[in-house]
Amino acid sequence: MATSSPRQLYYDGQVRAASSGKTFQTVNPATATPIADIQSRIPFMVPNPPPIARARILQKAALILRQRNDEIARVETLDCGKAFTETSTVDVVTGADVLEYYANFIGGGGLNGETTQLREDAWVYTKKAPLGVCAGIGAWNYPIQIALWKSAACLAAGNTMVYKPSEYTPLHAQTLAEIYTEAGLPAGVFNVVHGAGDVGAYLTSHPAVAKVSFTGQVATGQKVAGAASGNMKYVTMELGGKSPLIICPDADLENAVDGAMMANFYSTGQVCTNGTRVFVPRSMKAAFEKRLLEKIPYVRAGPLFDEQTNFGPLSSAVHYEKVISYIRHGIQTDRATLLCGGPEKPDVPQDLQAGFWVKPTIFTDCTDSMRIVKEEIFGPVMSILYYDTVEEAVKRANATELGLAAGVFTKDLNQAHRVIDQLQAGITWINTWGESPAEMAVGGWKKSGLGVENGRRGIEAWVQNKSTLVDMSGAVVTVFAKL
Ligand code: NDP
Repeated sequence: MATSSPRQLYYDGQVRAASSGKTFQTVNPATATPIADIQSRIPFMVPNPPPIARARILQKAALILRQRNDEIARVETLDCGKAFTETSTVDVVTGADVLEYYANFIGGGGLNGETTQLREDAWVYTKKAPLGVCAGIGAWNYPIQIALWKSAACLAAGNTMVYKPSEYTPLHAQTLAEIYTEAGLPAGVFNVVHGAGDVGAYLTSHPAVAKVSFTGQVATGQKVAGAASGNMKYVTMELGGKSPLIICPDADLENAVDGAMMANFYSTGQVCTNGTRVFVPRSMKAAFEKRLLEKIPYVRAGPLFDEQTNFGPLSSAVHYEKVISYIRHGIQTDRATLLCGGPEKPDVPQDLQAGFWVKPTIFTDCTDSMRIVKEEIFGPVMSILYYDTVEEAVKRANATELGLAAGVFTKDLNQAHRVIDQLQAGITWINTWGESPAEMAVGGWKKSGLGVENGRRGIEAWVQNKSTLVDMSGAVVTVFAKL
């Protein structure tokens, strides 16, 4: 029995029932029990106020989100299985930050376009026009944050959005739609549809949709980008990664271990930018592994609303099976050395034992050809790879089709910038890992994506440019003036 009221669609400014009558359930990952029934179907929509008015609405929505932070975070915790210590400090806040960022950006004239004086009596102006109806398709790992990162830029640029959350984590979407309406967004500007991949595919191919912004796996992204670009739709693709973290020989050991743990165990490893390939100098092996093992008890699984808990279960039964099968593969087929963790469940209280819990797992002495090193696992599974020279580490780090994130730990400023410059990835960090503020444009290289979200660059993906040449000379330059 679902414990919350059913979730319906949200369009034309209000909650509406699905005429299809189809429903599915969302499940609490900590206990494996259903939370709510979700109605599934597709509606459609349109209108638009000027930038300063849009800015006010987005600012108000950010304010309401912050006021309702804990209540929304609570729902995210139940739906995704993330510890409340995380959802209450990161998920809603980092979404609201982006709303505020773009509200300020457009309020300050950020979309005013350009004017170029061509000649004394001629100039060119380039206006930034909205695209129209845009589709946002989200993954299940950062539901409200993804919904906000997409809708903030989309609405700031003057578009309307039809948003489809992942069917695994749909609960935030209606709340966000209601907040936008309360903040003053006109009816029909932000709409929510529910359903699985077929609903996403329908949006992607719908002729009324001008742009698709997608967050999800590479394989799904390839299908979505293929369908969308074939119809000349704009696309933004935020896809998966298998990101390298290079620890240089001079790095501070304590910082390097903390960075590697954050890059692998935060959000139970369900972060697209995770640094799952940790390159460590061979000379540092004993010290690095010792310190890592000493710190593993700091990863604390437990009741999700307990303030001591910083590590939740995986997000769904399907995903749990996938991560466990990778861990088994690492032990049995890749034959990497299991430093800690493994396929057994961690110690959690009796009432949580049916949940999708997994231990933080570290494989060491890994090689580049192992499957656990090559493929995105999207769970708390770290692979340590030893190297002899930094040049070798950089070369091996780049030997992948993915290029989402990368990082380096070193005290040498020149080395830090040199290594980062050589790493083939769109999101990079020096002596830290994971922070992705509103100001930072983020997006993957190679198969990890197309385009960026956030920052000044992020909004460019939600507008089309119109350039106009104005001539005041009073005469048209023509080659057809005489016989
Ligand atoms: P999926 O690719 O499985 O799903 C993403 C979304 O696409 C879901 O809403 C899904 O619906 C929908 N979908 C599925 N099939 C289609 C289709 N044919 N056409 C259109 N939409 C479709 O990804 P996950 O949900 O498993 O998310 C995890 C992945 O997301 C990881 O690879 C991770 O790295 C990546 N990710 C990337 C981020 C980035 O910024 N680069 C950020 C966060 C995650 P439904 O779930 O309802 O079936």
